[in-house]
Amino acid sequence: MSPSPSDGALTRALFESHPDPSFTLDRGGAVTAVNGAFAAFVGQPAEAVVGRPLAALVAEPERAAAQAAVDGVLAGVAHAWQTEFVGPHGTASLAYVTLVPLGVEGGAVAAQGVARDVTVYRVIEEQLQERVFTDPLTGLANRTQLLEAADRAVRRARPDGHLALLQLDVDDFRLVNDGFGQQAGDRLLVSVAERLRRATRGIDTVARLESDAFAVLLDGAPQRDDVHLVVARVREALGAPLTLASHVVRPSVSIGVAHWDGGASAVELLREGGLALAEAQARGKGGLAVYESAMHAAARARVELAADLREALRRALADDPAEGDGGLGAPPADGLWAAYQPIVDLAGRRVVKAEALVRWAHPARGPISPAEFVPMAEEQGLVADLGRFMLRSACRQLRAWDAAAAGRTAAVGNVAVNVSGHHLEQGTLVHDVHAALAEAGVAPERLTIELTESVAMRDPERVLPMLHELAAVGVRLAIDDFGTGYSSLAYLHRFPVHVLKIDKSFVDRLTEEPRGDVLARAMVGLADALGLQTVAEGVETEAQHAQLLALGCPLGQGWLYGRPSPGALLLRALGGGGTAAHATVCAAA
Ligand code: C2E
Ligand code: CA
Ligand code: CA
Repeated sequence: MSPSPSDGALTRALFESHPDPSFTLDRGGAVTAVNGAFAAFVGQPAEAVVGRPLAALVAEPERAAAQAAVDGVLAGVAHAWQTEFVGPHGTASLAYVTLVPLGVEGGAVAAQGVARDVTVYRVIEEQLQERVFTDPLTGLANRTQLLEAADRAVRRARPDGHLALLQLDVDDFRLVNDGFGQQAGDRLLVSVAERLRRATRGIDTVARLESDAFAVLLDGAPQRDDVHLVVARVREALGAPLTLASHVVRPSVSIGVAHWDGGASAVELLREGGLALAEAQARGKGGLAVYESAMHAAARARVELAADLREALRRALADDPAEGDGGLGAPPADGLWAAYQPIVDLAGRRVVKAEALVRWAHPARGPISPAEFVPMAEEQGLVADLGRFMLRSACRQLRAWDAAAAGRTAAVGNVAVNVSGHHLEQGTLVHDVHAALAEAGVAPERLTIELTESVAMRDPERVLPMLHELAAVGVRLAIDDFGTGYSSLAYLHRFPVHVLKIDKSFVDRLTEEPRGDVLARAMVGLADALGLQTVAEGVETEAQHAQLLALGCPLGQGWLYGRPSPGALLLRALGGGGTAAHATVCAAA
């Protein structure tokens, strides 16, 4: 039965008014009719399209696939696929095409198609992809894209191929962010990103993983030995001076390197890079470490040690107040304890103060350096507990010294306790200080809080009121490691500082370099001008002692006068004449 004329008119009307671009093809694959939507879609009038092969309307790279689909449908097989037509003014019009054979006996039309316009989806998709795969601040790849790139590289690489991952972390980023403002922090990150891109090849993937953590996937070419050249190039590029909020900084990064061993997955490669970075950071600013399998074991050991530290702190804080360290002066074989290092007046070499330094005797490993476990306490959120323990120990020790001196003049006047920035940030410091003082019945003037410049600089708006609160009741504040921070000295006017502790590096310079006294002299002068006391740290030799005395530095601390030791031993030295040289006891220092 052939369609009646009115049926034909209806069909044509339906075809014409169809909202999706629609077309029909003849037995040769040429277009016989298109509707208005199709003409608009390809940006050409119907007359210009009719008679041409469908494949000719499709963008060049897609033509062969389109021709195959047409051939298929002419052989009776329906087909649906996504393709790209040449749209108005040569733009790309993306379509999802459904092509079905029309089995009308003897008819001129062999197939009918609908090309659904999906151009808009592509745009959204691209935007989504961009969000999913790139870091909006720097435009670099993000972790997801890096992982994909690493995955592709790993699957493509031959087992003997070379592939390396650098993971980088900007040193002291928080100082910039908190000290100079987030805008400055962002600028630093953006310039690190640019410099990284310039220092690497186009085929390398440069990514920002989070905050101030970056990574570079070195694909293909670099031989194992070449990677250190890349590292050197990256270092040099990053270290160029940069002005942020009118401060000149030279960014430095810690770098962990993982070489692909021919077997690792992309995820493993990233984990290895991360372990190497952790090791590099543990080596200090600008550190570099290459992943070794031992790092897995080291990471596991760190987790175990952190658990031991948690337990040691729990026990130390649960200790009965009466038990303290008033006794024999022998350091405990297990657990946390406070050692005290004398601070002497340089002219008379008499002990006037002491600094409390935490010690940890691990039951299995023996003494562990605070340089190892204090950062661990910070990472594990234990540092406020550590601070509480040290504040309490120091206040009790003052009382124990008083009691033992029993009226003799040689009691230690003041004890300094080191406080970590994390403790300050947790907001409990003021309370913890008051609690320790009250429990031992010690006057606030006898306690000094030691902070580093960087801690004082961090979030000053929050930190400043706390420090003023402590100063108002009489607690002293010392700036530790003075001269080693990022700082501008302006903060000295704003902070209620009483003491500057000149870092050991400046004391070392006194006798090591010609004119090595310039900086120490300037610091003593600055302190005098501001009405602050100076303590020279790490004094080891008589020559240093003599120089410091000549510079007018009033106080000193160091092995020359006494090593950190149990409180009772320091006391014994005082009792026996009061010169610090008697207190030279090496206690896990
Ligand atoms: P710091 O506060 O600068 O402490 C001075 C460090 O120099 C101590 O190392 C001390 O033993 C060492 N020292 C003193 N005189 C000399 C000397 O003449 N020559 C040499 N070479 N070294 C000397 P220690 O006890 O290993 O502490 C290292 C760091 O760990 C401290 O540096 C401090 O930042 C941190 N720390 C120590 N105890 C505590 C604590 O109770 N709480 C916190 N938050 N940090 C602590
Ligand atoms: Ca200190
Ligand atoms: Ca120090």
